[in-house]
Amino acid sequence: MFRQAKWDEPNIYELSNGREGVRFSHINDTFRDIMGEISIDANMKREKDPQLPEVSEVEVIRHYTRLSEMSYGVDNGPVPLGSCTMKYNPRVALKYSSDDRLAFIHPLQPEESIQGLLKALYDLQTWLAEITGMDYCTLHPAAGAQGELTGILTIRKYHEIKDQIGVKDEILIPDSAHGTNPASAIMGGFKAIEIPTADDGNIDFDAFLAALSERTAGFMITNPNTLGLFEERILDIEENVHEKDGLLYYDGANLNGILGKVRPGDMGFDIAHLNLHKTFSSPHGGGGPGSGPICVKNRKVVDGITLKDLIPGPMIYYDETEGIYKIKWPGRYSPGLLKAFFGNVQQLLWTYVYILSLGPQGLKETGEVSVINTNYFVKLMEKYRGYSIPYGRRFRKHEVVLSSEPLHEETGVTAEDVSKGLLDVGFHAPTIYFPLIVKEALMTEFTEGETKENIERYAKRLGEIEDIARKDPEEPKKWPKNTSVGRVNMVKANHPKTLIPTWRIKILREKGLIKTLR
Ligand SMILES: *Cc1c(COP(=O)(O)O)cnc(C)c1O
Repeated sequence: MFRQAKWDEPNIYELSNGREGVRFSHINDTFRDIMGEISIDANMKREKDPQLPEVSEVEVIRHYTRLSEMSYGVDNGPVPLGSCTMKYNPRVALKYSSDDRLAFIHPLQPEESIQGLLKALYDLQTWLAEITGMDYCTLHPAAGAQGELTGILTIRKYHEIKDQIGVKDEILIPDSAHGTNPASAIMGGFKAIEIPTADDGNIDFDAFLAALSERTAGFMITNPNTLGLFEERILDIEENVHEKDGLLYYDGANLNGILGKVRPGDMGFDIAHLNLHKTFSSPHGGGGPGSGPICVKNRKVVDGITLKDLIPGPMIYYDETEGIYKIKWPGRYSPGLLKAFFGNVQQLLWTYVYILSLGPQGLKETGEVSVINTNYFVKLMEKYRGYSIPYGRRFRKHEVVLSSEPLHEETGVTAEDVSKGLLDVGFHAPTIYFPLIVKEALMTEFTEGETKENIERYAKRLGEIEDIARKDPEEPKKWPKNTSVGRVNMVKANHPKTLIPTWRIKILREKGLIKTLR
């Protein structure tokens, strides 16, 4: 039986008791003797010591071990968060991406002194272009949402240069889209126009044609979409959007289901972003760090300018005459820099190693196994009456959206209750209540990393939850019972006024501002 630890753990500042961990002074002395004094300008020295917690080494270790015992991640068990792609983070990628030779270099070092890094980044640019079927990639954006904004700003530049920005003010987006899509379109200065999904899970083509006009600046779509279904009329969509001189934007945050099989570039897309922290296995969650490179086709904007000239961030190129890799900073047609330097380099190197370790064949198998895992799960779920599989019996790609609406109608038990029932036996919940077009949505994605046995256990547990809900509909409302933290109020937990992101808990407690951590 699963039980998560419940420690009433103070934070590290509250534990501070004036003890010391390692004594560095004699190591420092020896070092100084052989290396000489480090001289630091007086005006760069701190006036006061930083107020760091002082705890003995063993207490530090115990503190963080206890915290880890109250946590759940992909190293504990399955995390089938649809769309978010939480896959296993291979340690070989960690080993190489954290290598000291890379960790201690500085982005302002001369190019000749970081040739190894530049070559790795150059190769990664090339590989991602190959994987997406595009011509050029910039590794610069720091997350999926930032990649989207970068792409939208690139679309904006395209229309600005063509002097049609006053006319082109709409981006079409399916209603199954990730919430960041309309947000990015609006941040980029466009209106977001929602296109409904038809009963078969494709976009409603007539509604799309009706929405398409001279005002269409671009079309932004995830394919396969968030229902895990491949948009069957993508080539027709492409033709129509391009006819109106709109650009096609591919939200490739989650590429798992088509990896090595189908490429956005071949579907006619002009711009695509990828989430390296999803498909390419670098760790994520808890707010980052991420990496959302964008890739573009070499599409003509006006004479002498192509989309490549528009993308922001530094790009790496190989200078044939000098025989070295160099950095090209964004040019005058580009939106410029969205963050400092090359983005999150460790994530980039992680992806570099991940791709290197799998090779083209391995990437293809990754896609295949993730699709098989999803469809195996769908098959297992068919026998349960409490869950339906909206949008037909089509094959899924990387993920599937189940609906627990039948169970809800019968017993009043919600998707939230169901997910708490999963937590109670040591699973992570799927993504729930998204996409918005499915009621009581349970959006599930196992990725290539999950075992057959775990997928079977997961389906079986969903079946058990259904049985319990029928026998005693009140019981699921009491879940979770076996986790470190019980049921939280979903509204409060997301409300900025109740979130206290500070280590000064002690002070807040003394002032009576909070009573207890949970
Ligand atoms: C995760 C995701 C995003 C956003 O990516 P972030 O890195 O979280 O900003 C966008 N679109 C889809 C389909 C996603 O799954």
